[in-house]
Amino acid sequence: MRNTMKTSTNLIHTLPVDAQTGAISVPIYQTSTFVQEAPGINKGFDYSRSNNPTRKALEDLISSLEGGSGGFAFSSGLAAVDAVVKLLEAEDEVVAVDDIYGGTFRLYSFIYEKFGIKVKFVDTTYPVNVAEAITDKTKFVWLETPTNPTLKVSDIEAIAKIAHNNDALLVVDNTFASPIGQQPISLGADIVVHSATKYLAGHSDVIAGAVVTATKELGDRIKFVQNATGAVLGPFDSWLTIRGIETLELRLKKQSDNALQVAEWLERQPEIAEVYYPGLKSNAGHELAKKQQTYFGGVLSFRFVSDIADSATIFVCSTSLFQLAESLGGVKSLLCHPAAMTHKSTPPEVRRAAGVADSLVRLSCGIEDAEDLIKDLQTALKAVSSREVESVKIGWK
Ligand SMILES: *Cc1c(COP(=O)(O)O)cnc(C)c1O
Repeated sequence: MRNTMKTSTNLIHTLPVDAQTGAISVPIYQTSTFVQEAPGINKGFDYSRSNNPTRKALEDLISSLEGGSGGFAFSSGLAAVDAVVKLLEAEDEVVAVDDIYGGTFRLYSFIYEKFGIKVKFVDTTYPVNVAEAITDKTKFVWLETPTNPTLKVSDIEAIAKIAHNNDALLVVDNTFASPIGQQPISLGADIVVHSATKYLAGHSDVIAGAVVTATKELGDRIKFVQNATGAVLGPFDSWLTIRGIETLELRLKKQSDNALQVAEWLERQPEIAEVYYPGLKSNAGHELAKKQQTYFGGVLSFRFVSDIADSATIFVCSTSLFQLAESLGGVKSLLCHPAAMTHKSTPPEVRRAAGVADSLVRLSCGIEDAEDLIKDLQTALKAVSSREVESVKIGWK
């Protein structure tokens, strides 16, 4: 159960002071094994794949932030996703959000399909689509909200009811909202997954993932998979992730403020056809996002009136504060051109049908000053308009 302290206080004080030394920073227990007094008699730890004190501090922290009954840290977000998929059996079906994270799509389609797991992708912004796709073989409904890169918002509470009425579990990949921005378990989700690489760690310095379960029974099953398959997060990376999470709320607040200012500015530019950000009043998901999220997040996308890839290519090569890189949620602003980067392996018709236009640019706002970020984007817009940039290497054909 969530205690009555405010989330920010809870966030800082869930971390234990080291009982042995009083160290206020969680010690990095860089050890593979633990000495036992007699066979099976130990201090709660026997081998670091099974359990490690630094990893446990992180797992308890994430579980507490999500209001879950147990947390589990993995070597990447995809390893966390993979551990959840391993709860399934051959012939099981999954109903998933159609613009699902590319890596999760690849895992389901190219690894698990051959083991007999089927996935139906539907537009989950209309819960009725989920209800229509569910069969008695459906074991998971798999949501991301907001999605990547078009920031579509789905109704977690309504979809949880549909899943439960059909004896399926609701899994929410909460990477884009973070547990400070949205707590799916309080809205009915059974399992939450994270790429902790993004907002949770927040400094673009670690690859990490997490799973949080609503019940102890599901937690025991994830714990079994974690130990049996072994994709655990190491002690140092666990520590880095804890260190990042301590400032999660401060960062997310600033990133969300920056993203809203940037989105409102972009919306006023004649070269821009559409801005995708749930914080905008004009956004189709705005009211729902206001209801189920505390912050709208630092990520937004937009596309140009001249919807050709070159507009995006010139733009992403003409900023100096926004760095051209995949990933998001860190303190430094990043931008990318999904059609040529994160979604390059998606066939163009499929990508366009999912709303990812050729000229779509995704921004991840960091914690810099909003005015400086807007000036940087203004320079890049001018470069697109005048097509003056000579140094652009057009990697797009
Ligand atoms: C990045 C990401 C993942 C994968 O996480 P890694 O840490 O890169 O393995 C999964 N889901 C979403 C929504 C992501 O953005």
